[in-house]
Amino acid sequence: MPELPEVETIRRDLEPLIVGRRIQGVRIHPGAERLAVTDAPRALERALAGRTVEAVGRHGKYLTLRLDDGRWWVMHLRMTGSLVHLPADAPPHRFERARIDLDDGTTLRFNDLRKFGTWHLVDDPVEAMPNAGPDALSDEFTPRWLRERLRGRETPVKAVLLDQSVAAGVGNIYADEACWIAGIDPRTPAGRIGPTRAARLHAAVRETLEESLGDRGSSFSDYRDGLGGEGMHHLLVHVFRREGKPCGRCGHTIVKTRVAGRGTHYCPGCQRR
Ligand SMILES: [Zn+2]
Repeated sequence: MPELPEVETIRRDLEPLIVGRRIQGVRIHPGAERLAVTDAPRALERALAGRTVEAVGRHGKYLTLRLDDGRWWVMHLRMTGSLVHLPADAPPHRFERARIDLDDGTTLRFNDLRKFGTWHLVDDPVEAMPNAGPDALSDEFTPRWLRERLRGRETPVKAVLLDQSVAAGVGNIYADEACWIAGIDPRTPAGRIGPTRAARLHAAVRETLEESLGDRGSSFSDYRDGLGGEGMHHLLVHVFRREGKPCGRCGHTIVKTRVAGRGTHYCPGCQRR
């Protein structure tokens, strides 16, 4: 599932290719009607046609395209979505759900096996993401902010990291990786994380997101960047989907369990409660 580094990689790929481009037409394919959240599919296609893309932004896992009528086209890729820039005559991917034709003869293709992706057309991006907190790479996400979100809570620290109102953009991969980097057992009750460990965890969140971004994200399954290529960071993770393999720090065998309903990977040797 694309998380912050993957969505930011797509944003950086697409920004120079689509800013200033006029949208000639949009087609949401039959069977993909749920993609359009704020309008019926045909109405959304009509509202987008003729608009020019003025900026490509991101908040957490959302892509935010500012249009020349002041509105925002907000996309979420959910489980298996991708947004790929291709020539107009490129054949459609097997799971193409929508196609956007641009005025320079290029296209964007929204591919999505599971069909959980969403498009909102809104006056303000926050309408599409009412529960989103500070972006995990923004200045608003500080050690103090994280410490205050952890304080006094019995819920596992991993569940707090997955809460988009705490750190928008962190998902299952980078929550596991951040806990390993910080040396914290992901099942630890959040309130037991003191100021020093909270600061270490904050730094670990930043570190894992920035390292993955440097590797153009992680392609464990369906993730593709804005040009259709794979990221590299899945080859370099410390614990995620490495159960049964030795920990790179202490040599113990990495295990998989469930925390907050999600598959969770950690090292029992060097991640402390
Ligand atoms: Zn270890």
